[in-house]
Amino acid sequence: MEITYWNKNIETMDRPAIEALQLQRLRELVDQSLKMDFYKNRLLRVGITSSEDIQSLDDLRRLPFNVKDDLRQNFPTGLLAVDMRDVVRVHSSSGTTGIPTVIYFSRQDMDNWTDLLARSIVATGCCQDDVFQNMMTYGLFTGGLGLHYGAERVGMTVIPVGGGNTQRQVQIMKDFKTTVLHVTPSYLLHIHSKLESFETRPEDLYIQRVFLGAEPYSENTRLKLEDLYGIDAYNSYGLSEMNGPGVAFECVYKQGMHVWEDAYILEIIDPETGEILPDGEQGEVVLTNLVRSAMPLFRYRTRDLAYVNSEPCRCGRTHRRLSRIQGRTDDMLIINGVNVFPSQIEEVIMAIPEVGTNYLIHLTKIGSLDKLAVKVEIYSKLFTGDMSALDGLKAKIKEKLRASITINPVIELHEPGALPHSEGKAKRVLDEREQL
Ligand code: ADP
Ligand code: ZN
Repeated sequence: MEITYWNKNIETMDRPAIEALQLQRLRELVDQSLKMDFYKNRLLRVGITSSEDIQSLDDLRRLPFNVKDDLRQNFPTGLLAVDMRDVVRVHSSSGTTGIPTVIYFSRQDMDNWTDLLARSIVATGCCQDDVFQNMMTYGLFTGGLGLHYGAERVGMTVIPVGGGNTQRQVQIMKDFKTTVLHVTPSYLLHIHSKLESFETRPEDLYIQRVFLGAEPYSENTRLKLEDLYGIDAYNSYGLSEMNGPGVAFECVYKQGMHVWEDAYILEIIDPETGEILPDGEQGEVVLTNLVRSAMPLFRYRTRDLAYVNSEPCRCGRTHRRLSRIQGRTDDMLIINGVNVFPSQIEEVIMAIPEVGTNYLIHLTKIGSLDKLAVKVEIYSKLFTGDMSALDGLKAKIKEKLRASITINPVIELHEPGALPHSEGKAKRVLDEREQL
């Protein structure tokens, strides 16, 4: 496979060089943070008074963690390090788990972020010849404008369509012979279920690659989408607190996402104890942004769960890879005492060929017991009136789920389009246990 790089020197730097650069940037970050009231108090409390206290990368451990609540409590400008007139862009998080947090970019920050995205895009094999349709929501959400700028920098033909209006999306794909999409996996699944009504077959499209991100999804969902559309799907990870997309991206080998370690320090911790975990062990992703002037942020607890792969990658990039995100620490469901991540349920059902492109996890309470219903859309051709075939399918899904999550779910089969769908981040869980 031909490997192309955006910035080969940085992408293939040897480990000692990456770590030396990280240390130098970490020290600058500490000096920068000491000029800000909020961080200064925190750093002084742990005895850090200047960058002289940071002698090696291990000293990062002395720095306190920061969490989403710290950003919320400092809303709107408490964590701004520069004059507002030096801010050229404001973004915010989507607010999936509460009040959104705000993020500021200076001109230099924009330039750095855009470069990380250009690097990410080129790592998937895309180039100037591609036509890029960005189906992520524009506006305050970083998924829209972030990739937009990165794709322009690569020189792709960018179609800034934004989210929603499925028929128009498909028409644009055909009119402009779109070759690359940026989209949430749930929306790309949904689009497939609508293609027939637009008299379009996947073969009528020109899509070769898609960037999937913004929400957790399983490997089987990736495989399903690759198969349904005949495409290569690349995992893309980021969060607004760390700029947005472009923190980690898959290369052509699709074996985990390279974290751009010249710009971020990655740690994985035990979410309970805060202890740092070795590579390969799953825990909470903690990120330090090394190159941001308007809003420095170190040791940010993302609440996302993943593990690190430090094996060399065949693409030659030396930046370590992050596994698929299993979910957020607060996504975990406790069902009759058993811990389950929605992604575990998705992983099972998306491997069943009869299952279509949408599902919903519905939790209720009967007496003191939790009841788990998994509602899945199946392909309409399966609704033939043959009840025993449908019962057989239900039993098969139930058994596969039970074997994986050790809970006996109720399975409901639905026609395509019957369950609620989203055009941005999907809401896969309806938990009505509290209210009942
Ligand atoms: P919010 O935290 O309000 O959703 P963002 O819009 O900044 O705000 O979204 C970032 C979050 O989206 C990440 O912390 C993560 O939980 C999720 N996310 C982003 N990319 C991926 C991905 N490739 N796989 C799984 N989850 C992802
Ligand atoms: Zn690689």
